[in-house]
Amino acid sequence: MTKKYQFGIYIGRFQPFHFGHLQTVKLALDQVESLIIILGSHRAAPDTRNPWSSQERIKMISAALQTEDLQRIHFLPIRDWLYSDNLWLRAVQQQVFEITDRSPSVAVLGHRKDASSYYLDLFPQWDYIETGNYQDLNSTAIRQAYFDPDNQAYLTQIPARVAEILEAFKLSNRYPILCEEQQFIQAYQRAWSQAPYPPIFVTTDAVVVQSGHVLMVRRKAKPGKGLMALPGGFLSQAETLVDGMLRELKEETRLKVPLPVLRGSIIESHVFDNPGRSLRGRTITHAYFIQLKPGELPLVKGSDDADKAWWMSLADLYAHEDRIFEDHFQIIQHFVSKV
Ligand code: NAD
Repeated sequence: MTKKYQFGIYIGRFQPFHFGHLQTVKLALDQVESLIIILGSHRAAPDTRNPWSSQERIKMISAALQTEDLQRIHFLPIRDWLYSDNLWLRAVQQQVFEITDRSPSVAVLGHRKDASSYYLDLFPQWDYIETGNYQDLNSTAIRQAYFDPDNQAYLTQIPARVAEILEAFKLSNRYPILCEEQQFIQAYQRAWSQAPYPPIFVTTDAVVVQSGHVLMVRRKAKPGKGLMALPGGFLSQAETLVDGMLRELKEETRLKVPLPVLRGSIIESHVFDNPGRSLRGRTITHAYFIQLKPGELPLVKGSDDADKAWWMSLADLYAHEDRIFEDHFQIIQHFVSKV
C-alpha cells in the first residue's frame, strides 16, 4: 500500500519511551514509508533528565515495536548544541539528507506540547503533522516516579517491554545514584520554595587552556558526583565575577600560577544562560576563558568541591563529552574554537 509520504521524521528524547511516543510512531507508520527517529541529546552526561544513552533508548523503542515495523525505521542519534540551533539544524539536515537523498516527500511529526516544542517550527522545507496529545503522558512525571523506588505509578504509562528494561535497569549501579540525585535536587528545590520569587542563581566557571589542554576537575558532590566539570561555583555576596571565578579556580585546582598572571591571561568572558542548563534551578553562569602561555603544564591538585584536577587533552575531552557535567562541554567548545 502506498503511503502519503516517503519519509517521516520524529524527534524526541524518549527518556523513557512511553505510550504517547508509541502512538506517534504507529500514526507515522500509517502515513510514511520510512520513519526516521531522531534521538536528541545524544551523548549528554547521564542525569535525572537524560538517564539513558542513545543505545539504551534505541533498545527500549525497538522492544516496544514489531520486527516488520522496525525494518521501516532509521534511528538517528544527534547531540545538542545548546547555544546554537543553527548548528543543531545543520546536523539534523545533513544526517536526514543522507537517508532521504533529499526526497521532497517528507513530514515531521510531533506534538506542540509547550514552549520547549519550538523546534518543530524549524523545518519549513518539510510538511508537519500534529499528532495531538495522548492521555497527557509526560516523561518528566514518569522519571520522577521511576527514580522513587516506592512508586510504581509509571508502569501503566509505558509499554510492557519498556517496563521490563526499566525493571532490569533498577539492578544496575546507576539506578541508586540517579535516585539519590533526584532526592538531592528535590530537597534543593524545596529549600528555595518559600522564597517570594523563584531564585536565579549566578555562578562563574573558568576555562583555562594551555597548549591543547583544558583544566578540568572531577565533582566530589551531588549533583553530577563523579562527572568531569570546569572549575567554578556560586558567586559569593561580596565579590566581583572575576574575583569569584579566580577564587573557585584556586580553591578547586590549586593551580600553581600567580593570580596577577591569571588575571592578565583572561581573553574573554561569555554568559551561558540556557534556561534548562542546570537541574537545580535557573542558573546563569559567567565563564572566563584564560589562555596560558605555551610551556610545561602548571601543577594542579583537586581540593574543596573537586576530588581531582588535571589537564585534559582536547582529544580526550571531545571523546568523553558524555562524562561532562551540564553544559560545560558546550562552554569549552565555545571558547576553544576561537584561538
Ligand atoms: P520528548 O521525548 O519529550 O518528546 C518527543 C515528542 O513527543 C515531542 O513532539 C512531544 O511533544 C511528543 N510527546 C510527548 N508526550 C506526548 C504525549 N503524551 N502525546 C503525544 N505526543 C507527546 O522529547 P523533546 O525533549 O521534545 O526532544 C527534543 C530533542 O531535540 C531534545 O533532545 C532537544 O535537546 C533537541 N533539540 C536540540 C536543539 C539544539 O541542540 N540546539 C534545539 C532543539 C531541540
